Amino acid sequence: MKALVTGGAGFLGSHLCDMLLAKGYEVICVDNLITGTEDNLAHIETDKFSFINHNITKPLFLKDRIDFLFHLASPASPIDYQGLPIQTLKVGALGTHNMLGFAMEHDARFLLASTSEIYGDPFVNPQNEEYWGNVNPIGPRGVYDEAKRFAEAITMAYHRYHGLDTRIVRIFNTYGPRMRLNDGRVVPNFIGQALRGEDLTIYGDGSQTRSFCYVSDEIEGIYRLMMSDYSMPVNIGNPEEHTILEFAQLILKLTGSDSKIAFKSLPVDDPKQRRPDITKARNILGWEPKVILENGLEETIKYFKNILF
Ligand code: UDP
Repeated sequence: MKALVTGGAGFLGSHLCDMLLAKGYEVICVDNLITGTEDNLAHIETDKFSFINHNITKPLFLKDRIDFLFHLASPASPIDYQGLPIQTLKVGALGTHNMLGFAMEHDARFLLASTSEIYGDPFVNPQNEEYWGNVNPIGPRGVYDEAKRFAEAITMAYHRYHGLDTRIVRIFNTYGPRMRLNDGRVVPNFIGQALRGEDLTIYGDGSQTRSFCYVSDEIEGIYRLMMSDYSMPVNIGNPEEHTILEFAQLILKLTGSDSKIAFKSLPVDDPKQRRPDITKARNILGWEPKVILENGLEETIKYFKNILF
């Protein structure tokens, strides 16, 4: 079986490539390396793996027959997508269109990596898949949220109109080794700051919530969804919800750092609460997260320590 992973040099994409190779798939990774890096793939030695440097906003033609297409390519951290707003909209729209066409051509099953951001700043907590969301289309986060909402819409259109076999995973905050130290997200920021003895920067008063899923759990959920026969969106994330202030205190405890906390202004449209309802994932995929937050963070801290020192 052959799988193609767009965004395969990124944080989640590279872990997905590892898992697919371990399961015996031949894997083709497509990435233009604007936020991903070949360092994430440097450990792969098998000739069952190949890398193509390509920007999928341009069509991709391959002779190899592909069975499964995992479409993960996109800038994904708020700093990345706000710094690359046009590229983010283009990869969500043109890139997804091109990859759907590619899947049609190859008769491949197609999985779209969507996001909890499609729920925006939600009025409903936890968020289930039936909730339509509360997104500001013209705010700074809108470039990512609307790109992914369009990507979901065109994926469902290909499913309904062309009969393409499609899956949509809504990925909630995920963390683990291979996150970029400078990607601006809360996990690398807090761990990097704690390890360097700098103040931990809490945006706002820290009462906003997030729910953090360890990368191995997330990848297992994505794979199970691809292998299922369910074509409507499914949330994959950890339902354990924490305030950002609690999260900062936990990082200080686990790193043993005596860093202080500094309160900074809250970014525009920063969601106040986020927690996945994973009833569907439990019932349809038999999936739920296994890694507890402290253990996942220990692994992540180890990874960042290696990079920093
Ligand atoms: N955040 C923070 N300090 C930081 C980075 C992020 O307080 O140094 C907050 C951010 O405002 C948000 C939460 O942490 O409320 C998660 O941010 P992240 O960028 O990791 O992901 P998001 O869930 O917002 O996409």
